[in-house]
Order: sequence, then C-alpha cells, then structure tokens
Amino acid sequence: APLLALHGVGKTFSNGVAALDTIDLTINEGDFLSLLGPSGCGKSTALRIIAGLSTPTSGGLDWRGGALDRSGIGFVFQEPTLLPWASVFDNVWLPLRLRGVSKAKAAPAVMEMLARVHLDGFAQAVPRELSGGMKMRVSIARAMVTKPRVLLMDEPFAALDEITRFKLNNDLLELWQDERFTAIFVTHSVFESVFLSSRIVVMAARPGRVFKDMPVDAPYPRD
Ligand code: ADP
Ligand code: ADP
Repeated sequence: APLLALHGVGKTFSNGVAALDTIDLTINEGDFLSLLGPSGCGKSTALRIIAGLSTPTSGGLDWRGGALDRSGIGFVFQEPTLLPWASVFDNVWLPLRLRGVSKAKAAPAVMEMLARVHLDGFAQAVPRELSGGMKMRVSIARAMVTKPRVLLMDEPFAALDEITRFKLNNDLLELWQDERFTAIFVTHSVFESVFLSSRIVVMAARPGRVFKDMPVDAPYPRD
C-alpha cells in the first residue's frame, strides 16, 4: 500500500541553487528504497524534505493515512551523532527518554535493540571507545528503538571500510527482513543499492530529478 507520495517536489535554496527539479514518487509500505545518484543530485535534500527537516519550494508530500510524527520516523546519518561520553545504553535510551520512558521501563527495548545490532555486552561501553562500525550500530539501534514505521538513512556507511560496510549491509538487511519497516536509503554505491533494496530510484543532477525507478528482484528469498 502507498505510504507517501511526493507530488512535483522541487527545491531551490535561498542562495539560488536549484537542488531538485520536480520529483514525483510514490513510496510503498515495506519498500527498501535506495536513492542512488552522483554527489550533488539532491538525494540528501529529498531525504531531508521527507524527514520534515526542510520544506520544498514547490509541490508537496502526501502521507497516506496521516502524517507521521517524529517518533514514526527514524534517522541515521553518516556521522553518528552520539553522545560520546554517555554509555551505549543511555544513547539508545535517549529517544525513549525524550518521550518520558524511564530507564527501567526502557531497558527491555534497549537491550533487545542492542542484541539486534550485535552489540550484546556493550551496553556500558561509551562511544568514544568504539570503532566506526560499532558506533554506526549504536546509531541504528537508537533510530530503531522506538519502532518507527520509516527509517531514513543518509549514506550511513560511506565512511566505513569495505569489510565493516559489508557486515553492516548484511545486518541491516536482516533487520529489515525481520521488522519490515519502510527504508529509504541514500547512497552513491551501486553495490549497496542492489544488495539492499527492493527498489532503486536513480537520480540525475542539475537540477535533481528521477532518472530511473526500478524494482530489484532479490537473488535470494526475502521472506
Ligand atoms: P533554505 O533556508 O534555503 O530553505 P534549508 O532550511 O533546507 O534551506 O537549509 C539551510 C541550511 O543548510 C543552513 O543552515 C545552511 O547553513 C546549510 N547549507 C548552506 N549551503 C549548504 C550546502 N551547499 N550544502 C549543505 N548545507 C548547506
Ligand atoms: P546529494 O545528497 O545528492 O549529494 P544534496 O541534496 O546534498 O545532494 O545537494 C544538492 C545540491 O544542492 C548541491 O548542489 C548542494 O551543494 C546544494 N545544497 C544542498 N543543501 C543546500 C543548502 N542548504 N543551501 C544551499 N545549497 C544546498
């Protein structure tokens, strides 16, 4: 079923840069959609508009079944924006804490998410002492702890080495197969988009627009 439709979404920044021309796109519930394209084609701009962090200068969004509030959307950025000296547990607890959930009440959900991202045993570690890949795992756990319907990711693995990146690709795919949230994944990696996605939207630049929109048949069962 359709979850979100973008109707003629365009964005020209106040400095005159036309980042998006007109994007028409319908995102379905349960899609793992990759936005693939060269740097500067407007992928991040499109994602920020979907997240409600930026407003389009033309067109609009139509959330079917009502707009999602902030807790319905999880966000993972390339730079893990973790609290460096707070424990992994406290970092993952944060979105629940902001919704008034006590540490004790949050504990089962936090520990379950840490297990899902293979960070068992690291609850009391602090991000400062973790590798880049492990910090990214914490970011994913933090984004998913509220069980959002939509997970938005902006080149989350771009700064990681290839082996770490491949492991995270596998684990993210497993998470999506189990939880069936809708994922929108910005990348300029063809490999990553083919490996992860059920659908690839290729964008072209100047100004950004949809160039190709294609389903991906998994070479392995997805269910
Ligand atoms: P606008 O105010 O033009 O609608 P947004 O509100 O979406 O744009 O974003 C503006 C923010 O992006 C500002 O904080 C600005 O400092 C920052 N910014 C400016 N130029 C760039 C750029 N080339 N790439 C990324 N961010 C930028
Ligand atoms: P991508 O994610 O595909 O690399 P972006 O969405 O970041 O592309 O950027 C698209 C274009 O808009 C680029 O030319 C970029 O420099 C410009 N841009 C992005 N954010 C801003 C901003 N806040 N203000 C002005 N220009 C921006």
